[in-house]
Amino acid sequence: MSQDQDSFDILVIGAGPAGSAAACWAAKQGARVGLIDKARFPRNKLCGGLFTGRSRTYYREIFGQDFDPSKAVTRDEISFFHDGTCLATLTDVPPFNLTMRVDLDATLYQHAIDAGAVDLTGQPIAQLTDNTVTFRDGHTVTARVLIGADGVNSITARHLFGAPFDKNTIGFGLEIEASTTEQSPEDQPLRIDFAAATWGYGWSFPKQGSTTVGVGGLLHPNPDMKGHFAAYLDTLNLDPDRTRYKGHYLPFGDFRTVPGRGHILLAGDAAGLVDPITGEGIAFAMKSGQLAAQAACEALSENTPETALPRYQRNLKDIHRNLKIARTLRRIIFAPRWQTAFTNTFRRSGTVRMQYMQLLAGEVEYPALAGAVLRRLPRYIVNRFRR
Ligand SMILES: Cc1cc2nc3c(=O)[nH]c(=O)nc-3n(C[C@H](O)[C@H](O)[C@H](O)COP(=O)(O)OP(=O)(O)OC[C@H]3O[C@@H](n4cnc5c(N)ncnc54)[C@H](O)[C@@H]3O)c2cc1C
Repeated sequence: MSQDQDSFDILVIGAGPAGSAAACWAAKQGARVGLIDKARFPRNKLCGGLFTGRSRTYYREIFGQDFDPSKAVTRDEISFFHDGTCLATLTDVPPFNLTMRVDLDATLYQHAIDAGAVDLTGQPIAQLTDNTVTFRDGHTVTARVLIGADGVNSITARHLFGAPFDKNTIGFGLEIEASTTEQSPEDQPLRIDFAAATWGYGWSFPKQGSTTVGVGGLLHPNPDMKGHFAAYLDTLNLDPDRTRYKGHYLPFGDFRTVPGRGHILLAGDAAGLVDPITGEGIAFAMKSGQLAAQAACEALSENTPETALPRYQRNLKDIHRNLKIARTLRRIIFAPRWQTAFTNTFRRSGTVRMQYMQLLAGEVEYPALAGAVLRRLPRYIVNRFRR
């Protein structure tokens, strides 16, 4: 490769939803973009794969086409449980798309390449400095702006801040793919189990040919997440080979208020942008990737790459505001002392059930939800003492 071919306007590190969105958006603006990933695509990522209405909207906006649900399972019915007891089943709800990340991410990556990003995937990074990435084979690439979209264990965040996340506030999830040879996807329930973990929940998401079953929540109050998972699998009458457990960290409410430094930006999980109640991260990953790319392109067009961060911070204001409200609201959903109030209210109130469903489906914005919760608070407090 000539020197010229190795220098880019923007290097995006990580080709998951955040990185592919960033690379696609920047390439469409005419920037010369390199898209780096240690993996070759298709590659898997531990995830429930719930692709919400919010994800679908962002997908359309960023990639310029509608999400193709042909490889997903689509459901308009969902059941909520607590301690093995069904609290409610909602039917005719806005459709939930349940994807396999191996398919979804390969599609997103391909959109970025089709838009003109240079494919630098399948190459592990040996060293990262402020403007250069050196691969393990010794090959070096440079850029004026770097976007770290390299997930929760981000080496870009480590480079900037010494650690990718705070161990005291991080979340963690465990999952298996349970085979569904005896059931067709239509027969498998889409199910959420409150309190399957402390400050977290369990899920059972039907896919084509399997069901993704998982438990996740804040790691600190769940030192025995495996124990919670085993109990949850028992509740579902599943007895899978437990050596197939897989686990992954998940930012769960603790986003980076300063997501980068100068010309280095963090997007998606690397910036902690995951919903603190539902654990939804795909939508905010794509959106923050787009916003980072937009900030980078504007900074480069004015030949001031160091202004990329303040531009990006302005772009992220809405997402940060939503996540802050969600972090406050989740106390009355997840805190152990509010569990009785939450389940009693959920059982009694169709409005609350519908609002929670909309939250999960990415169909409601947090300021509106916060208003509704405040109006309901007095009854909620009474429900805390009901049996
Ligand atoms: C158990 C679990 C269940 C979840 N369920 C859902 C769900 O149902 N719906 C939802 O919306 N969200 C869910 N999430 C959250 C969601 O998975 C993440 O928020 C989302 O994947 C973030 O996208 P990203 O692009 O920021 O990071 P990632 O998807 O993690 O992508 C990061 C990319 O960076 C690459 N990379 C990492 N390190 C390096 C390196 N050193 N060099 C080069 N490349 C590197 C990786 O190979 C990867 O391709 C779940 C998370 C967990 C853990």
